[in-house]
Amino acid sequence: MNFSLPSFFKKDSSQQIKRDHLPLRLFNSLSKIKETFEPIKPGTVHMYSCGPTVYDTAHIGNLRSYVVSDVLRRVLEYNGYTVKHVINITDVGHLTSDEDSGDDKMMIALKREGAPITLTEMKKVGNKYIKEFKEDLKDLNIKTPFAFPRASEHIEGQIAFIKTLEEKGYTYALKDGVYFNTNMFKGYGALGGITREEADTVSRIGKHEDKQNQRDFALWKFSTTKTPSGKDLGWKSPWGVGFPGWHIECSAMSTQYLGKQFDIHTGGIDHIAIHHNNEIAQTEGVTGKKFVNYWLHNAFITIENKRIGKSEGNAIYLRHLIDKGFPPFAYRYWLLTGHYRSPINFTWEALEGANSSLIKLHKQFLDLGSQNGKIDVSYQERFERFINDDLDTAQAVALLHELMGDESVNKKNKRVTILDMNRVLGIGFIESYKQMETILKGETKKVEVKEAPGAVQELLKEREVARSEEDWKTADTLRDKIAKKGFEVSDTDKGPELTKKQ
Ligand code: AMP
Ligand code: ZN
Repeated sequence: MNFSLPSFFKKDSSQQIKRDHLPLRLFNSLSKIKETFEPIKPGTVHMYSCGPTVYDTAHIGNLRSYVVSDVLRRVLEYNGYTVKHVINITDVGHLTSDEDSGDDKMMIALKREGAPITLTEMKKVGNKYIKEFKEDLKDLNIKTPFAFPRASEHIEGQIAFIKTLEEKGYTYALKDGVYFNTNMFKGYGALGGITREEADTVSRIGKHEDKQNQRDFALWKFSTTKTPSGKDLGWKSPWGVGFPGWHIECSAMSTQYLGKQFDIHTGGIDHIAIHHNNEIAQTEGVTGKKFVNYWLHNAFITIENKRIGKSEGNAIYLRHLIDKGFPPFAYRYWLLTGHYRSPINFTWEALEGANSSLIKLHKQFLDLGSQNGKIDVSYQERFERFINDDLDTAQAVALLHELMGDESVNKKNKRVTILDMNRVLGIGFIESYKQMETILKGETKKVEVKEAPGAVQELLKEREVARSEEDWKTADTLRDKIAKKGFEVSDTDKGPELTKKQ
């Protein structure tokens, strides 16, 4: 019988079946449609992700942005590209409002930490949160980017950028700083998200009386703060001592590291309307070329359906998850079970569910032994179809479960196919065993009652009532219910204590 393989399969000389890659399609916020990805330079992708403002610990919502850019990078690598990825560090100039009003977030950190207001102290505060951020990235198995450029270490480049904009007539000076004149830039707001009328309405909150147009934005802000020695806080510039505006750092640093034009820019959806429209205006104003070809934006994580924030008092950090006995992989896995463009609501119950599911996968993986066979091309092709469809990790994870349970695939082939999928999913089957090891060994960890999930606390309360009424049968039933949620109760003189099976 004459049997021919589908076009994406071909054989190389070693008789291993190899495939041409399926097209990678990404949703581009510029065109608002899924487009087939084509790099500027064949085989290479230059990609920039807006990084954290290091005035505080990044919360689990912020961290979604970097898990998403990591998955994107891995998908690109899976497709055979070499990726140069840059994540910037904002350690100056980001005001509490995107509208050029409010305090500099770094200054807020200095005041909160009781530190003297100097550039050296600002740097120190930044160092502290950069260290935490990098630890979080490592724990979440996020690949290290090519560079983490810091805004405060690229002031000259930002000044040069503003000078060129000035020479080209895009700027005007006011008493508090130098501004970008958006009327001078044809096509301002290409990413959408905000209309001129809306910009005016939004800006009324912190309306800047002197701006020619409320959507104009600061490129350089003059210092209004004195250091303890009586000097103006900030950097010298042709316009006076002060600070770069927040948006300019991303234009200056991305083009310095990745070129005047590059392939992909990522960030959270909150950046579309102002920050990214402004980045485009500044950069294209300087270079006269299209800045970025593909803009990808992740939707937000909410907690109890509310925005995450310090002021909301609901911020949860990766350290909280670890303290409660969850491996960071569980959070990564939970994120992957949703699509990056869908908002997801975080609950402890959902994380608990993701953790159980991940542990099950790891146990199943261990049962496969340690020998590798051949990749199952049918599963591999389906996997690639999902991830290349705008990073559909939810379907890819479902497929991983399907493969785990598929008895028609032998153990060795299954193992190597799963490892191939793990190149993109990065959920720890091979690369970071430490996190999962303790969990798989079934070690336990003490958990404060008040730190346990709400449902467990409720069951515990009911059990205490049953015990006080000497209703031992109900107390035992409740103990079993608590155990099903992964916690063991022991009764001590000081009250019930909880341990959690890792
Ligand atoms: P920031 O440190 O505020 O500049 O934010 C760092 C990154 O986190 C940016 O890409 C934001 O768009 C993103 N971000 C902020 N809050 C959330 C959230 N709740 N969910 C997902 N991404 C977020
Ligand atoms: Zn940025």
